[in-house]
Amino acid sequence: MMNDMKAAVVPVAQPYLPPLAEFMPYLEQIWLNRWVTNGGPFHRQLEDALCEHLGVEHLCLFSNGTIALITALQALNITGEVITTPYSFVATTHAIHWNGAKPVFVDIDPVSMNLDPSRIEAAITPQTRAILPVHVYGNPCEVEKIEKIADTYGLHVIYDAAHAFGVRRNGRSILSFGDMSVLSFHGTKIFHTFEGGAIICRDAEMKRRIDRLKNFGIEDEVTVVAPGLNGKMNEVQAAFGLLQLRHVERAQEARAGVDRRYREALGEIRGLRLLEIDAINTRNFAYFPILVTPEFPLSRDALYEELRASQIAVRKYFYPLISEFVDYRGLPSANRDNLPVACTIADQVLCLPIFSMLEAQVQERIVDIIVALAGAATLRA
Ligand SMILES: *Cc1c(COP(=O)(O)O)cnc(C)c1O
Repeated sequence: MMNDMKAAVVPVAQPYLPPLAEFMPYLEQIWLNRWVTNGGPFHRQLEDALCEHLGVEHLCLFSNGTIALITALQALNITGEVITTPYSFVATTHAIHWNGAKPVFVDIDPVSMNLDPSRIEAAITPQTRAILPVHVYGNPCEVEKIEKIADTYGLHVIYDAAHAFGVRRNGRSILSFGDMSVLSFHGTKIFHTFEGGAIICRDAEMKRRIDRLKNFGIEDEVTVVAPGLNGKMNEVQAAFGLLQLRHVERAQEARAGVDRRYREALGEIRGLRLLEIDAINTRNFAYFPILVTPEFPLSRDALYEELRASQIAVRKYFYPLISEFVDYRGLPSANRDNLPVACTIADQVLCLPIFSMLEAQVQERIVDIIVALAGAATLRA
């Protein structure tokens, strides 16, 4: 009964779960170790394995991505103003707020949907301390341009890389740009530990600082050197991460197939725009956003309702913009006139279901609905 009900609605994302039997030996090992958290053996193994897999040198695991983002800004003593994008998940801006800093929203680029580097300089003031861009949908920001601006004005750069697991730019890990990058391992992300996250930083000294901050600022038994918090990943999460890592390539191949089928079926439909990713970047197939432009016979919201009525749980990522939420809409930079591109895209975007276990027939049904709506309206016209 429960299975039937679940099968009825197609979610936009679904956590990848390896066969349960494969996880049991890890759990048995935790029971043998009697070490459940505080930097246990699986925690250390996962940090090493992720460095190797991602091609980075210094990585600190966290209990979730939001705590990791907050800690990243804290580790760099970020106060004052932080330039960021309104087109993201709300945790990006919350992390600035929790550090007592002020978010300054800058508009996005219409093609990449990432923070538009050509608009950053105009937003810099004497109070600006950092830039917090997001690699939205795993599509890399123009990191070279952002780095140049940051160097010119002496600003820190922290990337919210929650969508960008495994992505490379010109062969180099996208996580190796900026002062830090932050990953999320939430269940909806392509690599997950139920909940989890990580900071990638540049040197061992900074890693030590971050590791202290995620453990209450404790230096040793009798010394606390910073007002830290509790951001530690536990052994069950870390063990699951190690298992998940063994499956991540296969899961990604399945996602690539879903992505390809969508592109073949929807690429030529008038009024739909798909996300283009520059050939210098690899793709991780984390999301499948479409833009429903005015040339499409239905509005984005009408298409959303049609798909929802057919039990396809499409999502409006990212609508509303973060700058529309109650805590931020009073900021001068939140004014819609300052963010015309982000406003337009937020009104057009729809994310279609993409996950490794999405069955081909179910995907066909989704595509058929969209194609039929596009065609039927054309006939009517
Ligand atoms: C998922 C996500 C986060 C938050 O990560 P959690 O692990 O859920 O706390 C932050 N930023 C972006 C862009 C995200 O998509």
